[in-house]
Amino acid sequence: MLKLKNVSKFYYNKGVIASGFNKINIEFNMGEFVAIVGESGSGKSTLLNVISGLDSYEEGEMYINGEETSHYREVDFEEYRKKYVSNIFQNFNLVNSYTVYQNIELVLLLNGYKRKEVKTKVLELIDKVGLKKYRKTKVSKLSGGQKQRVAIARALAKDTPIIVADEPTGNLDSKSAKDVIKLLKDISKDKLVIVVTHNFSEIEDIATRIVKMHDGKIVSDKTVVETDKVEENIENNNKNIGFFNMIRLGLRNTFNIIPKFVLIFIVFLFVTVSLLSEYGSMQKDEYEEGKLGVNYFFHDTRDTRIVIKKKDGSAINKEEFDEIRKLDNVDLVIENDIMLDTDVWFQTTDDSYFNMNGTLRNIDSFDGKLDYGRMPEADNEVVYVVDEYDYYFNEKQTEAINKTYYYNGDSSSYSIKVVGVKYKNESVFSNGSGNLIYGSSNLLNKYMKDINRAHSNVIVSINGKNHESYDSPGSNFDIRTSDRVAKGNVYVPESMNYLCKDYDCRWEWLGIKVNNLYFNDRIDLYITNTYNDKNINSLLWINKDSENNGSIFVNPDDFNYLFNKDSYQASVFAKHVNNVDEVSNELDKLGYSTLQIRKTLDNMLGEAVKAIKILKLVVTVVLVVTLFFISYFVIKLILKSRNVYFSTLRILGANAKHIKRILDIELFFDASLAYLAYMIAILLVKYKVIYVKFINNILEYLGMRDYILMYVILIIMSYLISTRYARKIFNKSAMKSYREEV
Ligand code: ADP
Ligand code: MG
Repeated sequence: MLKLKNVSKFYYNKGVIASGFNKINIEFNMGEFVAIVGESGSGKSTLLNVISGLDSYEEGEMYINGEETSHYREVDFEEYRKKYVSNIFQNFNLVNSYTVYQNIELVLLLNGYKRKEVKTKVLELIDKVGLKKYRKTKVSKLSGGQKQRVAIARALAKDTPIIVADEPTGNLDSKSAKDVIKLLKDISKDKLVIVVTHNFSEIEDIATRIVKMHDGKIVSDKTVVETDKVEENIENNNKNIGFFNMIRLGLRNTFNIIPKFVLIFIVFLFVTVSLLSEYGSMQKDEYEEGKLGVNYFFHDTRDTRIVIKKKDGSAINKEEFDEIRKLDNVDLVIENDIMLDTDVWFQTTDDSYFNMNGTLRNIDSFDGKLDYGRMPEADNEVVYVVDEYDYYFNEKQTEAINKTYYYNGDSSSYSIKVVGVKYKNESVFSNGSGNLIYGSSNLLNKYMKDINRAHSNVIVSINGKNHESYDSPGSNFDIRTSDRVAKGNVYVPESMNYLCKDYDCRWEWLGIKVNNLYFNDRIDLYITNTYNDKNINSLLWINKDSENNGSIFVNPDDFNYLFNKDSYQASVFAKHVNNVDEVSNELDKLGYSTLQIRKTLDNMLGEAVKAIKILKLVVTVVLVVTLFFISYFVIKLILKSRNVYFSTLRILGANAKHIKRILDIELFFDASLAYLAYMIAILLVKYKVIYVKFINNILEYLGMRDYILMYVILIIMSYLISTRYARKIFNKSAMKSYREEV
């Protein structure tokens, strides 16, 4: 069964070589009960450890079941221990924080037994060693004799052909010792039992063979009882612990020793808080830097703004706008997006030169309190949000509020009245926009066509020739509206006659082509009149000195047809900057192409900011690495008490891979719980149940993605800690790492 041929064992200790035993030749057979005796230091324990596969040997050959083992590596010995040997030690080597039941169960789980089989088997074994009453008692509370009985039950549970006991009674009183020996005798049938003892008398009647050692050598070997040759029937137990049982053990170990759990929990909590704080403040800085940026195309640079267009280029209809408004996290939808980026100008037409300018906003989106005046009640009334140093609206506010203002100072155009004023505060200013004019949606629609006109390339074609039209009253081919012109007709100044046949443009066709970012269109109008300084008043009711003298006049309906189009581009505002990505994704799914304004912000500082960003990244990486080592060393210290546990698992035949997995699971649970605890704290701060300043400061800069990312980093860290720790303790032989701890 087991045969040693010239086997020697040496210990290397800091350059000093000691001999454990020297050139041993011996053979053991099934059915034997072998007693090994000899004075202290004669090499008995060393021999048992080598036989058990717990320690390596340096010379000779050891055969198990005919197989030579000198080429074995640690993994092979793991298999060997699992398959052939159960150990019983002088100091019991139990898991003190487990109950009697759990200690025995452990071996069965490690050997791949199913949960259902385990229970009956454990109870049966506990009964066999007479500890029924204590099955739920923690092992640390038992007497020595009871502990050794647990160890025996555990050895039985493992059900190996060889049982090796090294001074099993060494720490017991004589009564307990007797019981233990008797128990050993009972279980020794059909097995090979090898017992080392310093008290030979207690074993004299039982042993079938007595081996005496002296100074690392066997000095006598006597068979006292001839044993029957026992059939060597070794079941090949190749099963390993199952996944769920690993989780069970991992969980059990997490909470098994509460102070240890709390300490590891605190370490992970510390890591979580540091990671999230650092990450949050990094996000915050980036965000603040973004705000410093300038954008030359968009006037309204609020970071929650997303500009959208249909991917197929068509106009966005009402149903589609409603669909967008229903999306989660959408705060506001501006249909006539172009208005946000266009400054309009209003002036009084008297000689007081009161004026206002800004971008038009819907009064529905106005929030805050007026500094003076009231909210609008009619379509031509507006609220003006203006710089507090504006001369007209600060020094002469009562006068300013009573004036009538005209679009572009053009008295033939629309007029508005300012009924309420609010001074810009910093947050309005930081949007990058100038002053704001809040009016009704009807008012906004009215201006839309003028704004569209200003953003369009307009061509007037007459007599087969194209001419660019400028959007400035009275300039060449400028187009204005007049109710005096019938729909489908157009009036042109006489000065255009040179373009036409026979120097007369009447009864010719005039085409207007409009082309802008969003749409192309054209209309053909019939020239029914030409005007000059003399008849301009009777024809168009316009004074000859008006700045519009010289423009082309069309009916307002035709003008509307060209310029008051549906919305081709709109802006969607997310409720919060954290939602911008999410909202963009949903819009994308609905068939819109999106542009996030916050991403268009050019950074003024350019290279310098890039350098700072890289530096920050380096700092963060250093922080993560530092956190890793700090937590590794702390956790290593905390787990120190665990080394015995892990060596015990190995002695019981568990392989390093599975033990590592159990440790992974334990740290995973611990890290997850710490993370969860911090998430709860964050939620409490978010919903204002509690107030913690440093959490509050980073809260709004972190989104779901960041939380997930940080969690993943934490779990990877816990995994690496476990890996590093495992490598440290598993690269030595089981006995060596065990010895170092005990
Ligand atoms: P026994 O169990 O018979 O008392 P051991 O097997 O423990 O004896 O020891 C045999 C010899 O090996 C002794 O000389 C002892 O000093 C030596 N020895 C045992 N363990 C170690 C060790 N870990 N490092 C160095 N020498 C050791
Ligand atoms: Mg010994």
